[in-house]
Amino acid sequence: MTPPLDLTGRVALVTGASRGIGYFIARDLAAAGAHVIAVARTVGGLEELDDEIKAEKARSGKGEATLVPLDLTDMAGIDRLGGAIHERWGKLDVLVANAGVLGVIAPIGHVEAKVFDKVMSINVTGTWRLIRSVDPLLRLSDAGRAIVMSSGAAHSAKAYWAPYAASKAAVEAMARSWADETKNLALRVNSVNPGATRTAMRAQAMPGEDPQTLPHPSEVAAKIVALASPSLGETGLIYDVPQGRFISYRMPE
Ligand code: NDP
Repeated sequence: MTPPLDLTGRVALVTGASRGIGYFIARDLAAAGAHVIAVARTVGGLEELDDEIKAEKARSGKGEATLVPLDLTDMAGIDRLGGAIHERWGKLDVLVANAGVLGVIAPIGHVEAKVFDKVMSINVTGTWRLIRSVDPLLRLSDAGRAIVMSSGAAHSAKAYWAPYAASKAAVEAMARSWADETKNLALRVNSVNPGATRTAMRAQAMPGEDPQTLPHPSEVAAKIVALASPSLGETGLIYDVPQGRFISYRMPE
């Protein structure tokens, strides 16, 4: 039997922690003992998370949160966040780069330039800027773990999903390059395909679908937090939640 995840004394940064999958990843990391730095724009969602984490701490003595209302298009803000983490903790143990937007489901020629730019700015440039900001801090951890949220769309590349699919293919490729750069260090970097999950983003993408047919984000999050474990060995892979296993898309040179 796998021992329960123990993240006591570890610092974890989770983006998109105000709702959906990121909310429950943040909650579960705190329940495992981590100090969670919870990032999103919606203060109400972050406060709700904080209330849950405080209630759990009262029960089990485990977990804490620092709330960071931040728009991931604010590149200077992302840089400042890395500086603030360095000042307060001198390291980062876990990064969950989860925040993302769908943009629009539409034929490629109908996508408005501002929508395309927004998807790229949040999903790709914001994620890269965050990685750049915290990479030195993850290297200072004795077991840095990075989890970068991708999507099956990066590979299925279905009709009408072009901006989102392209953005997820991009973050996944970044994560794999980063993993290759750091493979001889303690840092482990993996992407995740959470699979179709009952969240606001999925409802936007598939308005005709019955959400009750999909797993709740808490179920999906529970399977992802294991990638934060200090004992994880894999790096440069994609953890596919629906299949419950790691897969590799690396081509031979
Ligand atoms: P939600 O739409 O439910 O949540 C998205 C999160 O990202 C929110 O917390 C939101 O916070 C945050 N976010 C969005 N834009 C910004 C921004 N500009 N700055 C800071 N934070 C931002 O999405 P899901 O939980 O469904 O998705 C989480 C991840 O999983 C995404 O990367 C998504 O692409 C991926 N995914 C989801 C699937 C699904 O079926 N749900 C399937 C495959 C992948 P706020 O608005 O408060 O800023």
